[in-house]
Amino acid sequence: MGDDRGRERPSDPAADATPDGRRRAGRRDRAVRAAVEQGLLGPGAPLVALLDVAGIRESVAGLRAAFDAVVAPGTPVLHAFAVKATPLVPVLRLLHAEGVGAEVASPGELALARAAGVPPRRTVLDSPAKTPDELREALALGIAVNADNPQELDRVDALLRSAPSRSPFGIRINPQVGAGAIEALSTATATSKFGVALRDEGARDWLVRACRDRPWLTRLHTHTGSQGVPLPLMARGVAETYALAEEINRTLGRRQIDTVDIGGGLPVNFASDVTTPTFAQYARLLRETVPGLFDGRYGLVTEFGRALLAEQGTILARVEYTKSAGGRPVAVTHAGVQVATRTVYAPGSWPLRIAAYDAEGRPKQGPLLVQDVAGPACFAGDLLASGHALPRLEQGDFAAALDTGAYYFAHHYGYNSLARPAVHGFAPGASGSVVFATVREAQTLAEIVAESGGAHTDALTTGFTSERR
Ligand SMILES: *Cc1c(COP(=O)(O)O)cnc(C)c1O
Repeated sequence: MGDDRGRERPSDPAADATPDGRRRAGRRDRAVRAAVEQGLLGPGAPLVALLDVAGIRESVAGLRAAFDAVVAPGTPVLHAFAVKATPLVPVLRLLHAEGVGAEVASPGELALARAAGVPPRRTVLDSPAKTPDELREALALGIAVNADNPQELDRVDALLRSAPSRSPFGIRINPQVGAGAIEALSTATATSKFGVALRDEGARDWLVRACRDRPWLTRLHTHTGSQGVPLPLMARGVAETYALAEEINRTLGRRQIDTVDIGGGLPVNFASDVTTPTFAQYARLLRETVPGLFDGRYGLVTEFGRALLAEQGTILARVEYTKSAGGRPVAVTHAGVQVATRTVYAPGSWPLRIAAYDAEGRPKQGPLLVQDVAGPACFAGDLLASGHALPRLEQGDFAAALDTGAYYFAHHYGYNSLARPAVHGFAPGASGSVVFATVREAQTLAEIVAESGGAHTDALTTGFTSERR
């Protein structure tokens, strides 16, 4: 024990922060303290997730201001939140109250958006594998649909012949501008599974003809970014899509394409409390790269997910035990692969910042120590962080996985039948206090049993014989 290899490594998580980031870190610290004081977190509740409601509002305000500043006055702009990033009904409701719609990609996500009260005219359906039933429902509701491929357009043709629809229709384009740093998240490679591959032979001509034959096809959709994709590459994807819209409208001699859906994909800085890149930087870069898209002739749809919610979420896990292995101190906590799946399986691509709090929920002070922060699952690689320099974690302390509001605790992975943790939203209360509201209850053991075939206990023993009788 007594390893202090990390002593000279700077790692105060809030040391490198913009004023916004420092305020966010301050809210986070007060919320952790309050969560312990109010009993949301402790020996009986060793894992919870927190969402910063003021942070979500700020983040939406930043998005709206960024695009308001670059579009011509009167331009219709729909910001649709990519539901997959944080599929929680109260979050979708809050976003709706702040003027943000929903981008959905499955019947489940559509059901969540509807449960949150997001109206059809603020909902966009984008899935790459829509069934005829899903399309029929979308058309009946009048939600915007972006078709992925020619076969899907054929299905829409048939549905429109049997019943008219108010839905705006678009087609997804893969501008094939290339990959970012994370192959699995790069949507615009030459061979990506998404959309119509624009540079493939005959694709442009086919797209022009598809629009000529379908006057109701009025939108183009692209989603070129994601974590790891540099902004200029994202902007090029949008530029290619805009150029195609212009070509279609020129060739047809009418302004048929009236809206471009630029997708989401703004990356998030997981390394500090500095928000970079910002929505404002991206919006400005888009206007410089594609000025024609912002001169008022086109409506815009955006579909940001991660950049809106990631920084607003924190996972808090109690340190159950501490030990040392091969000279490396290890804190065994309750947060691992079940809530941070990407980080555990691909730590190189998805490193998370960890902050240390004491048993009372106060930020831990003291010399930094290189240590592992492990999860509760039964495999060796279940590490939230490996070799991080932190104040020494002790039994009863809390480890916080920061910037986990998107694609982390809302994406539970059922390894070891570990329960989904409760999610609480927090907001400032009277005179400096912090108030909490339940976003999602923790999963109960009865629910785990029920979801694991608990109603069919004898299915494989006597289930077949009883059917034969
Ligand atoms: C995932 C996805 C988004 C959101 O991506 P983020 O990286 O979370 O902003 C938007 N549009 C489509 C079509 C997507 O698949």
